[in-house]
Amino acid sequence: MTRKEIEALAEGVACNHRTEKQCWIDVHQIVKKLGGKIEYAKPENKIELCCYADESFKIILLRQPHYHEQRDRWSIAHALGHVLMHSHPGKTRLFTREENRTECMQANWFAAGLLMPKTSFLTKAKELRNDTEELASLFWVMEGAASSRLESFRLGLS
Ligand SMILES: [Zn+2]
Repeated sequence: MTRKEIEALAEGVACNHRTEKQCWIDVHQIVKKLGGKIEYAKPENKIELCCYADESFKIILLRQPHYHEQRDRWSIAHALGHVLMHSHPGKTRLFTREENRTECMQANWFAAGLLMPKTSFLTKAKELRNDTEELASLFWVMEGAASSRLESFRLGLS
């Protein structure tokens, strides 16, 4: 899938799950609706997601010494990207935490698109004069995620 297609997929999922009042997406709610579960594991755990043949799935989050709800939200959105783009009905598959894999890069594009949907993010960015701190708290992401999202629009990548 191209980045544009992934962007559109993420925006569609975001639209289906957004409530009127808030910008941030309730990723836990999406996991529940799709029949998934979330579990916590030790930091050395290498598996990030298990997709089962019956289409249920389990997202594995790491118990980090410095806990950030926003980081968990990103990991959940990333895993949802794998579930929607890279898992196959009837097949069990484990996803490991490896950087630089094409699928993980795509999952990160999906996560950015889901947590910061293009249309509403650009509208808010304009309103807030690209204030990344404000944007991050509005969309409930790490500030770094909001600033790379802005950067990707500036460079015409998304
Ligand atoms: Zn991944």
